[in-house]
Amino acid sequence: MPTHPRIIYARQYNISCLGIERLHPFDSCKYRRAYRRLRRLAGRTLRRCTIATDRPARPDELTLVHSPDYLRRLRDPRFVAAALELPPLGRVPGPALDWFVLRPMRWATRGTCLAAAAALESGLAINLGGGFHHAKPTSGEGFCIYADVAIAVRWLQRQGTLPANARIAHIDLDAHQGNGVCHAFREDRNVFLFDMFNGAVYPLFDRAARERIDCSLPLQPGTGDEEYLGRLRESLPGFLDSIGQSHPVRLAFYNAGTDPRAGDPLGGLDLTAEAILERDRFVIEQLREREIPTVMVTSGGYTSESYRLIADSVTHLLQRWESPG
Ligand SMILES: [Zn+2]
Repeated sequence: MPTHPRIIYARQYNISCLGIERLHPFDSCKYRRAYRRLRRLAGRTLRRCTIATDRPARPDELTLVHSPDYLRRLRDPRFVAAALELPPLGRVPGPALDWFVLRPMRWATRGTCLAAAAALESGLAINLGGGFHHAKPTSGEGFCIYADVAIAVRWLQRQGTLPANARIAHIDLDAHQGNGVCHAFREDRNVFLFDMFNGAVYPLFDRAARERIDCSLPLQPGTGDEEYLGRLRESLPGFLDSIGQSHPVRLAFYNAGTDPRAGDPLGGLDLTAEAILERDRFVIEQLREREIPTVMVTSGGYTSESYRLIADSVTHLLQRWESPG
């Protein structure tokens, strides 16, 4: 299967108001910065590959995973502020909070859906946002409100693009354990979870989530390049081979959070920028070798250079996989 990478993005992903960046280490404009850098690095190739996200995810799409009660509660600013772990936002009027914070997340959620559809056709699609891997069907936490990956899976299944029993892989290399994904797919054993994370940071006490992971690789705080890449190289190929043995894997999601980077205030790992690039290159190579259509999402990353890491990885992947013409 030839690979024609697709980049999914819209400027509406960016949370550019409410002074949110003063409350949380998250660079709320990192998607815009990443896209600008990509434009500089990849130029014409990027234009050819970009699919513009067309709208935010709709309520009928959100309810494919989330309970109506949870979505109703998101109208309450205090509830949203608690889910975002930003208590001062509880004083912002509900409609403003929805417009400036939740709506961008719904745009990125739609982007993950479009990326999943594009991946099935082109082999590789990268949503420049999304990867809200702490969001659960009935609650939000860790700056994650909508379970975009689960919504994308159910959306493809609803429209018949992906059979209900299709085998799916979720590879999570964000520094934090993807507990929301575990809960969203708790009963769905067609989804296989690979998760390598700092075992000593949030979410520490979600035992039910950790028990759901098919291949769990908790790391010590401060883990550096050699050990990190070594464990990835010795575990991922075997995981992909074992789950694809009896039935083909029809789709893979790769959570490429950039918070394992040394100096990240929340990740607690010690990777260089070169190791992050090598990690992304290796994961995509493994998936393309096995001809598994792949969706990459950008997830966490809380240093001011997070956008740079994203843009550099995506540029590399475009150069590696995009054939001219
Ligand atoms: Zn993270």
